[in-house]
Amino acid sequence: MTTPNRPAPEPVSLGDGQDALERLRARGRVDVDSFLSKLDVTRILHEPIGPTAQCLTLDQLEQYAFGPVIDLPHLAECDSCANALRAYRAVKERSAVPAGNPLGVPVREEMAFGVEVPEVIELGLADLQFDVVLQVDSVLDVQPADLKVANSLFTDIYCKAIDVVDSDAEAGWTYRARCVGRRQDAMVSGFEPGAKFVDWIQVSGKNTAGQTFDASDLARFSVSKDVSAVRSGV
Ligand SMILES: [Zn+2]
Repeated sequence: MTTPNRPAPEPVSLGDGQDALERLRARGRVDVDSFLSKLDVTRILHEPIGPTAQCLTLDQLEQYAFGPVIDLPHLAECDSCANALRAYRAVKERSAVPAGNPLGVPVREEMAFGVEVPEVIELGLADLQFDVVLQVDSVLDVQPADLKVANSLFTDIYCKAIDVVDSDAEAGWTYRARCVGRRQDAMVSGFEPGAKFVDWIQVSGKNTAGQTFDASDLARFSVSKDVSAVRSGV
């Protein structure tokens, strides 16, 4: 999730990289150029970023940052990889340059908006209710119908109410959006009983002043041990 109340960092530029290299050449005790000439980019892209052999590679971060991740059960077990994927997506979203922006200036969100999804969502019932926590640096004047929640395992997710949990001019505002979604049985029935996996939940919308917001977080899903309930569509 993104952290509100802090200005988004500037994306790192090629110039920053050159500056860092110059500093290393001037002050470092190693031969930077010889070290860099031995780096194998292809190998680095394919090396696990976390502590286990199943950990994701940089290549996979790129591949899964904006796509479904339900075929990566490792993410349900490994916090390093789940956090790396969240961070990678957040950086990519900040660096996005819209079409028709000739100067290539990164877009700044006018409103810092963070989202936190439930720790674990049990896929036992056909209709699932879950709360999404929204953290904003200003008052979020939004109607429940204007909050869009999307995930690949559910259809027709809607928000039925948004309650204020905490309000503080310093720390920002925290809201709880109460959401209901219908499980897509065709998708869920393919999972093994007791399976755990992770998927993106995307939250976006517009407040009454017309400002748009967009954030995502990874949720852990758990398939009920008694999967017959899922298979029979109960
Ligand atoms: Zn890992």
